[in-house]
Amino acid sequence: MSSQTPRVAIYPGSFDPLTNGHVDIIERGARIFDAIIVAILANVEKTPLFTENERITIIRDVFKANKNVQVEAFSGLLVDYAQLKKATVLVRGLRAVSDFEYEFQMALMNRHLAPGLETVFMMPDEKYTYISSRLIKEVFTLGGEITGLVPAVVEDKLRAKQKAKKK
Ligand code: ADP
Repeated sequence: MSSQTPRVAIYPGSFDPLTNGHVDIIERGARIFDAIIVAILANVEKTPLFTENERITIIRDVFKANKNVQVEAFSGLLVDYAQLKKATVLVRGLRAVSDFEYEFQMALMNRHLAPGLETVFMMPDEKYTYISSRLIKEVFTLGGEITGLVPAVVEDKLRAKQKAKKK
């Protein structure tokens, strides 16, 4: 089937902060879709470590060479945002069986809300399957080594935050 319409995918998440697992999924998505929009969920309930703008800046910086990777923040229903962006695909990452149940529920709920929007699951390289933003924050706070698990810019920003806190 050929189509002239560009295939736009959305990769939604908190990205607080971006990890190399996320980077791996975004790169895979960028190879398959005409455009992939990394959509940062403006979640009012969680208190994030990085502000929305900081997260946008980090991800834009990491993907500045990839013309088909866009980064935005969104609020409200994901399916409404997808429609606004003319996206037909939602990308989600699957690390382990533990991700499955929640992701499966979300995918089916989104299909119920927007039948034309397809969720596509992608697996990262196995060396990233144990990484989560939450664990990165925890390990870093306790003084553990996170080099190679997050982009260098994320490590720098984490150190800067830690320094500012100590002052
Ligand atoms: P959310 O709060 O929506 O789970 P995250 O930023 O934690 O947001 O994750 C966004 C998406 O990326 C989710 O689909 C999640 O399963 C996936 N993801 C998170 N970490 C990894 C990783 N290390 N490898 C692959 N996918 C990941």
